[in-house]
Formats: sequence, C-alpha cells, structure tokens
Amino acid sequence: MPTPDYYNVLGVSRKATQEDIKKAYRGLAMRWHPDRNPDDQQAEQRFKDITAAYRCLSNPQERGRYDRLGPLYHPDGRPPRPEELNEVVSTAWGNLFRRRRKKKGEDLRYTVSTSLEEVALGMEKEIVVPRMVRCRNCGGDGANPDGGRKTCEVCGGTGRATGPRLFRNNCFHCDGRGFQVVIPCATCSGEGRHAREDTLKVKVPPGVATGQKLKLAGKGNAPAGSGPEGDLFVIVSVAEHELFRRRGDDVLVEIPLTFAEVTLGTNLTVPTLEGTTTIRIPPGTAPGRVFRLANRGLPRVGKSRRGDLHLQVVLEVPGDLDEAQRVALGAWAEQLPPSAHPRRAAFVKSLGERS
Ligand SMILES: [Zn+2]
Ligand SMILES: [Zn+2]
Repeated sequence: MPTPDYYNVLGVSRKATQEDIKKAYRGLAMRWHPDRNPDDQQAEQRFKDITAAYRCLSNPQERGRYDRLGPLYHPDGRPPRPEELNEVVSTAWGNLFRRRRKKKGEDLRYTVSTSLEEVALGMEKEIVVPRMVRCRNCGGDGANPDGGRKTCEVCGGTGRATGPRLFRNNCFHCDGRGFQVVIPCATCSGEGRHAREDTLKVKVPPGVATGQKLKLAGKGNAPAGSGPEGDLFVIVSVAEHELFRRRGDDVLVEIPLTFAEVTLGTNLTVPTLEGTTTIRIPPGTAPGRVFRLANRGLPRVGKSRRGDLHLQVVLEVPGDLDEAQRVALGAWAEQLPPSAHPRRAAFVKSLGERS
C-alpha cells in the first residue's frame, strides 16, 4: 500500500508549523484512540495512520524526505521497490477515474408475463418490484435530518483534500462528502437507502416477443452513496396460448371441422386476436387448407402493417358413434357413386391393373 497523504490524515495544510501538527495530532489521537473505540477496526486503522503521520511530520528531517517522496515514502527509510512504484501509478489512475464517476446503484431484472392478446394491442402493465430506494428522510446521506450531520472540520465542507494530484483527492476524514454523520438516520439506519416494494408502470409495446428486454432507466437500486440509480431491465415472457400459435408476426389457429362441414361448406365463427369474426368455408374444402386473414396477425415493431392470421382446417373424424349411427353411416356410404371420391376410384383401379 502506498503511504497515505499524511497532511490530509492530520487535517493540516502543507505549510503547517510544528505547533499546528502537534495540536492536530493530539485532538485526533484522542478521538480515535482504540481505548475509546473498542472493537472498531476502522478506528484502529485510522489511529495507526494518525500516529504514523505524526511520527513523520513532527520530525523535520523525515518531513523533508516525505515531501520529496510522497506516496513512496517509507518510515523505515528503505527506497521504494518497483512493484510499489507500479501500485502508486495505478492507484493514482484509479483515483483520477473515481473522482469523475460516482458509484451507480445495482441494475435489476424483472420478468413480466403477458398474453398474446396483450402483445397484439400493446399495453401498460403495473409491476411490483422490490428495490432499494433512496431514503427520503435523510435525502440519502444517512444522517438524521435533525442535527445528524456536522461539517467536516478537516476540509471545511468542501470534501476535497489539499495536496499533490497523486494522492487521494477526496478528504480523508469525510470520504469526500464534506460532512460527518454524528446521528444516523433512523429510517435507513444510516445507509442512505432502504428496501421498498415499488409499484411501477411498464409500457409493453405491441408486437414484443419472449425474451425481449425493456429498459426502465433509473428504476434499479439506489446506491448506498450519492451516485445515480441503476436501471431496471424488464424481460418479456409471452404465455403459450391455447388457440393461437405464433410464427413471427403471423399467428396460426387450427380450426377443427366436421366431415359434414368440409363437405357441404358452412359459415364459421373463428377467433381473432381482438375477438371473433365469421368466415365462409366453401363446399368441398380439403383438410389442411389455410385461410389467410391479411393484416390480422401481430403488429410489427415499428411498422404500421401487421402480420397475418392463418386459419388451418383440421378434419375431425367422428368418434363415439352408437350402433344406429354406424349403420346409418355405412348405408349412406354404400349408396354413393364412385365419382364422389375420384382419387379413391383411381386408386382402386390401379390396384385392379396390378393383379
Ligand atoms: Zn435515511
Ligand atoms: Zn472532509
């Protein structure tokens, strides 16, 4: 670890006199002494830093060496090792980067289920998302709004440390916030955010498919610090439909017809995504035939024309006949001329030629 900015640690300027340094040290050492902060590792580390800073800066010769070496200074006087040089450089880069970027809250994912009919029309759905929100009571800084924060005495509220660029640029004492929390906010226990079930509206555009992602910017978690909220990614899941099957923008429906209906023709009520409509089934309709209702399928994202609705004829062979019905059906079949079934007749004829 590079040596911290000793001036910053003691909260004194680089021109501080020996008297200033001694005074700053006494105040801080008292406040952060392990006896006064039992079982507090942060306080213990801070006390160590304070003591090391004082030991160095209170000795004019060491102070001179520190001023020349900065983060490469070592209390035991040894020269810096190459890996320490590397670390100082990368830490400095990290600090430069961090200064410009406040930490964003976590992104969240949420799956929303929708039906094919809803996809056809597009809609607005209400979803309940458990997420971390910024605490309103303290505005996110974690301090009790009634006198819970105190201006940082080291940076005077600016949050900036003085000193060369290579050092951490945030004030060491307040972590760059400019204040210290003396009484934590009761609502968020000082974290600045808390969990809440948030009811959000999500617009599902017409024509979306399963797996499509919708981004709700800023509706992810609030960060623990002062950065921006993360994003919420809503993943669409379109439920299987008992009637409609999706083929891209087209929709397929199987329509079961009886033998009499395909033979004689009929007017048939069929389902559409919006409701129902009636189509004409002409006499002699073959099973497997597809009736296409143009522009009645799913909307195409970003286009005005919709896909088509395909209605496919399926012949349902009658089952569960009683004796009288079987006899009637047999009698009816027997009195049909061969020309009623031309393919069947041709088949039988070709069989006769083979024998
Ligand atoms: Zn709070
Ligand atoms: Zn400060």
